[in-house]
Amino acid sequence: MRASAYPLIDADEAASLVLERTPTLGTERVTLENAAGRVLAEDVAATGPLPAFPSSAVDGYAIRAADAGTTLRVLGESAAGRPFDGSVTAGTAARILTGGVVPDGADTVVMVEDTRLDGNHVKVPADLVAGANFHQVGADVTGGQTVLRAGTQLGAAEIGIAAATGHAQLTVRRRPQVALMSTGDELVEVGNTPGPGQIPDSNRWALLAALREAGADVDLLGIAPDEAGALRGFVTAALGKADALVTSGGVSVGTHDLVKPLLESLGTVHVGRVKLKPGKPFTFATLDGGRVAFGLPGFPVSSLVTFEVFVRPALRKMQGFAQLQRPTLPVRLAYDARPTAERTEYQRVTLRREGRELVADTTGSQSSSRLLSLAGAHALVRVPAGDQVLKAGTVVEAMILSLP
Ligand code: AMP
Ligand code: MG
Repeated sequence: MRASAYPLIDADEAASLVLERTPTLGTERVTLENAAGRVLAEDVAATGPLPAFPSSAVDGYAIRAADAGTTLRVLGESAAGRPFDGSVTAGTAARILTGGVVPDGADTVVMVEDTRLDGNHVKVPADLVAGANFHQVGADVTGGQTVLRAGTQLGAAEIGIAAATGHAQLTVRRRPQVALMSTGDELVEVGNTPGPGQIPDSNRWALLAALREAGADVDLLGIAPDEAGALRGFVTAALGKADALVTSGGVSVGTHDLVKPLLESLGTVHVGRVKLKPGKPFTFATLDGGRVAFGLPGFPVSSLVTFEVFVRPALRKMQGFAQLQRPTLPVRLAYDARPTAERTEYQRVTLRREGRELVADTTGSQSSSRLLSLAGAHALVRVPAGDQVLKAGTVVEAMILSLP
């Protein structure tokens, strides 16, 4: 082992450095069919009001409230998409169906259940509410109103709003193209029987899932050996179309750790070591062309925790998300969270409801090789460096991964 030349950077400082140096990507137009999960690059405004016409909320009769308690002559019908071509005047009504245009002259719709029809005449109740049962023009959305904001992720309701306001296409941020590579002579393809000293490449699949969940389009580069020339070949071949390179392994100070020198030769290493547990060897570099590279540690937990702390927010910045960080919630610790002297630690916990509170249980041994400490974890509890034990019963803000 040799000593690292890289200064140990505070975890928060490293996270800010990463975000500062990560660009927001350009835009593209997508059809609504392909919009789910994408992030809006610009505000979306309604071209006109919604509803665009006074529309009935029920099946019934469009009348004038002044005619309450009387019997009215039915002039015709206003069905959805087939408006009644005339006006409702004193002593008259128009049959109306849900979504039908409320005809001129009518100010109220009475539900069919509250009426009695006799031939061409309808008896309406005396106790009706003027203005009831129809949607006024612009009641839901006013013309020109901003209905969706840039930085919003498009889900079902947002896509529905875009369609309802007449937008067949939307301008969204490009999805980050990420080249993903594992490094290590000990790695074999999962499914192949490991030889002596070999292990399956598990980080590739864990990181692929994490990257996709974070919105990236991933190019799988496979396993690079611990050999500088081969590694360089892998990386330069992949960098052509990638916005980001993500590697795992090969960033600690052992002699086979070749990723840092490689990134240094291709660009500038801004973060080479972090006061973080797990994840001390996390490496971040910028390459030419505005590209970024993340050298994640090889230990499975370290690679996924540094992904959460550094890569996921960066991918969100690339996509123009308004919100870069996971949400946090106050949780009550059910265990003594012991700190590490020099490093911020992210401890993995499961959550359970106890009354109105969320209670956090440790997932057990927090060894950076023990991926079971992260499997099923609902949250990461940040334990500040030092000697202050966060005693059981303490309430802390936890980074929420999922809720129980
Ligand atoms: P390294 O960061 O290369 O020193 O690796 C640290 C530890 O993580 C070693 O025990 C590696 O065998 C393990 N490791 C590295 N890469 C992977 C991977 N892709 N999948 C599973 N374990 C890995
Ligand atoms: Mg290695």
